[in-house]
Amino acid sequence: MHETTFVMKPKQTIREAFIEASSFLTECAVTEPQRSAQLLLAHVLGLEGAAYYMALPDPFPEERKSLWEQAITRRGAGEPVQYITREQEFYGIPFEVTPAVLIPRPETELLVEAMLMQAKRLWPEGAAPSRSEGGALRPLECADIGTGSGAIAVTLALQAPRWHVRASDISDGALQVAARNAAANGAQVAFLEGNLLEPFAGEWLDIIVSNPPYIPAADIAGLQREVRDHEPRTALDGGTDGLGPYRIMMEQLPLLKAPPRLIGFELGQGQAQDVAELLRAAGHWDEIIIVPDLAGIERHVLGVSNRL
Ligand code: GLN
Repeated sequence: MHETTFVMKPKQTIREAFIEASSFLTECAVTEPQRSAQLLLAHVLGLEGAAYYMALPDPFPEERKSLWEQAITRRGAGEPVQYITREQEFYGIPFEVTPAVLIPRPETELLVEAMLMQAKRLWPEGAAPSRSEGGALRPLECADIGTGSGAIAVTLALQAPRWHVRASDISDGALQVAARNAAANGAQVAFLEGNLLEPFAGEWLDIIVSNPPYIPAADIAGLQREVRDHEPRTALDGGTDGLGPYRIMMEQLPLLKAPPRLIGFELGQGQAQDVAELLRAAGHWDEIIIVPDLAGIERHVLGVSNRL
């Protein structure tokens, strides 16, 4: 059995401290031990880019020793780097992350892109015709369902400042993180607590976007430990076949004044045909679009209605 608490040797350079921590993390069998050590070292020392490399020959600062030991010990126990640094970038925007929220993934950036692109096609003015006769343009009503850190909602609010963006989550802890992320990035987003579409009952939505939990419950045990033991189970568990949240959202659609003209979901490997079928069965969308991610996995399913 290897050591589980990391204690650094005294009087080392920053480079030696990095090498020592990398080999500790390698023994702990965490993923990407060297990259983890580098990210945590830069975080603990408050150094970025070239300044980090320039500092490598310097003595390790004594006053950062206990922070460094704690960070490496936590990473050695499998905690993701992002929960230790409390930060993950998404779409070039800094997001605070805590164990109350899923760490935003790069493939979700493509969902944001796809939504912006389809919205531009449906509403070239970036706004919708008023619902009352002869009225002026009104802002598009967009809802991010199961917002977690707020990554999708905050990014859309910043990219499409004319939209009215709201977001729901069942977790109050997640909503607190999401609200801080909106405020810190100067995004206008309203946050509502509740299960999926439920907080929007009786309302009008033009756009729904969601990256809900979609892992089949029985598969959670087989995930890498960084995810399984540290990311929130509510953010992962999609019920027996992983499709529970999509089905519930389709069942909740009649709660809205009308189905949204644009809907977009993220999903797991092998789920695209099933989710596309759920959208087809709902009968509201004329076009069902399946978008692959950069690894070629069918990752997003969009529904577009051409009817006004
Ligand atoms: N919508 C958030 C994200 O994309 C949270 C997703 C989740 O927790 N399932 O990062």
